[in-house]
Amino acid sequence: MRNNRKFFHSIYFKMALVFSLMMLITLEVVGAVFVKQLESQNLETFKNSVQVKPYVVTSIRKQLENKNQDEANRQIKSILENIDTDSSNEIQVVDAKGNIRGTNQNSYQYLVGQKTQNTNIKYALNRLEAFEQNTSNGDNRYYTKISPIYNSRKNNNTSLGVVYIKANLNSVYQNINSVTVIYLFASLIAILAILLLTLLISRAITKPIDAMRRQTLKISQGDYSGHVDIYGNDELDQLANEINNLSFRIEESQEASESERRRLDSVLDNMTDGVVSTDRRGKVIIINDEALNFLDIDKDKVIGQSILDVLGLEDRFTFKELMEKPERVFVDYSNEERKLIVTAHFSLIQRESGFVNGLACVLHDVTAQQKLDEDRKQFVSNVSHELRTPLTSVHSYIEALSDGAMEDPELAPKFLNVAKDETDRMTRMINDLLTLSRMDSGTQKFETELVNINRLYNYILDRFDMIIQSDDDKVEKNYSIKRIFSKEDLWVEIDTDRFTQVIDNIMNNAIKYSPDGGVITCRLYVNHNRVILSISDQGLGMPKSAINQIFNRFYRVDKARSRAQGGSGLGLAISKEVIEALNGRIWANSVEGQGSTFYISLPYESVEEDLWDAKED
Ligand code: ADP
Repeated sequence: MRNNRKFFHSIYFKMALVFSLMMLITLEVVGAVFVKQLESQNLETFKNSVQVKPYVVTSIRKQLENKNQDEANRQIKSILENIDTDSSNEIQVVDAKGNIRGTNQNSYQYLVGQKTQNTNIKYALNRLEAFEQNTSNGDNRYYTKISPIYNSRKNNNTSLGVVYIKANLNSVYQNINSVTVIYLFASLIAILAILLLTLLISRAITKPIDAMRRQTLKISQGDYSGHVDIYGNDELDQLANEINNLSFRIEESQEASESERRRLDSVLDNMTDGVVSTDRRGKVIIINDEALNFLDIDKDKVIGQSILDVLGLEDRFTFKELMEKPERVFVDYSNEERKLIVTAHFSLIQRESGFVNGLACVLHDVTAQQKLDEDRKQFVSNVSHELRTPLTSVHSYIEALSDGAMEDPELAPKFLNVAKDETDRMTRMINDLLTLSRMDSGTQKFETELVNINRLYNYILDRFDMIIQSDDDKVEKNYSIKRIFSKEDLWVEIDTDRFTQVIDNIMNNAIKYSPDGGVITCRLYVNHNRVILSISDQGLGMPKSAINQIFNRFYRVDKARSRAQGGSGLGLAISKEVIEALNGRIWANSVEGQGSTFYISLPYESVEEDLWDAKED
């Protein structure tokens, strides 16, 4: 059905139809003129042919002048019989009185001598005029001609009678009809031939057009493989040539833009920033891997969606607002598994004409920056807080002293001692901060040497044994130190002073945070090319959530207790920096209420005995 409709709408069909109609009209007009002309000529010829010859008229005139009527009638009869005419044509001679004087029809001889009844003859006799008429009777057509026979004497304008001829026209019209039929038949053949010819011609024209249509369809579907065949150099061939050129150029520019797109894709995918771009209505059309990563979402779920919904900014802006005033906003994409803060920087995608095509958004991860900022703020607040407490306390003791306590021999030295302890604590803290700051800036010097850590560790612990056993009031005496040491000498490259400081700190903590005393177990062993030192106490322990934070600056599980013990919250932070600077690792395990274990691992390479001996020599 569709194909039929297509055919009737095609140029192919229209051309054939137009040509055929034009031909039909031409043939019709030519035919009509031709048949009309033929008819009038044939009739003319026929009329001429049925004309009574002048010499016959002369003979008849003579007989009409004859007084002897019977003789004249006989003569007229013989004259009419000799006229060379079709037997179907009726000829009568009527005299001026209206008497029929002769007829060429044998069956009408009885009319001779009778008055004519024919009104046309009477009319012609009266008017002395010739009379001509075409009549028809059923299928028969007749031509009637009545010619007066004038008196032969000069200037005598009277008639002697008339010659009446009635000729059958059927033969003339039969002729015309058969010619018309032949003409119609010939026209039909001509129309069929022309139809065929126009079909062939229009096929020849529409075939290349069809080929071009198919090729342009292929081009529009992105297939540039084929080409239109060219046979000559007419307008259609030139058009085909242009289409081939066009296809080639589109393919070239398609390839160029494709490779441009690939380049853009690879740039976008290798960027560390996320990029999202939209169309004019704010629907996402491009998004790179990093942006998908930030948003933790699949590409299929994003393309075609509103950028505000995708970025989770629908409550903060409308698309119109962003288009009018693109800005930079912070968005928090943190969840349980990760912390992520990004800046979303919006800008307009504009043509040179200023027409806005869409919006581009660059997402930049600023989590680390934000954390650094927060840490810095936290640090400043911690330092001020830590310094304010001892300063306030020193201030109040000095105030008390100046308010009179100075005079009290018991209170004065006590107050002065507290003030001294507090200033000592501040000095310690400031020293610790300075150490940390040097480590941060990389100016802290480490003087490393190969040390037998077995001996050094024992040496440090011996000192603690001494302190525990001494009479110093500060330390309760219900502690004991248990050593589980590898027997071998373990030579490790460390900075002895810094390392001692770390062990001191961990040991002091073990004592500090074990108010009920207990056994402090110290271990030393080698595991997978690493020397491991551990110190376990049976003290307060700490909650799981705190374990990862105790190495942070100023972090203390119980601030009041730590401060009461003279802690600053910087000891473990420094320990971590020192151990990491020695390429080691420090970590802790703890069960709240049962105790904690601190581990230090340091890189170690066992030294061959003889090699060492050789070195000593
Ligand atoms: P401080 O000067 O407060 O001791 P540290 O950096 O040495 O600072 O320790 C940080 C925090 O870790 C302490 O305040 C304490 O809460 C906790 N901590 C350290 N060692 C132990 C331990 N052996 N047992 C329980 N808690 C400890």
